[in-house]
Amino acid sequence: MNLNSEVLKKIVQKVADTRPDEIGCGDCFEQLDRFAELVLSGKPVRDAMPLVQDHLKRCKDCREEFEVLLSLLMSMN
Ligand SMILES: [Zn+2]
Repeated sequence: MNLNSEVLKKIVQKVADTRPDEIGCGDCFEQLDRFAELVLSGKPVRDAMPLVQDHLKRCKDCREEFEVLLSLLMSMN
């Protein structure tokens, strides 16, 4: 087995970059209404649904979707 340090560095980098607990837009959307309800009820969403919050931070589309949902829920209350 010939693993030189350059190859090794690349592998380590790749592993560090990969985030296996990341969710996609579909998964995010499925949990979005629950997430919005948590937000509105003042619960700590960072602990309850960290993956959704993490996705919303990075994804503009889902963030807009979330804002629409939030204003919808607020108008119903
Ligand atoms: Zn998304």
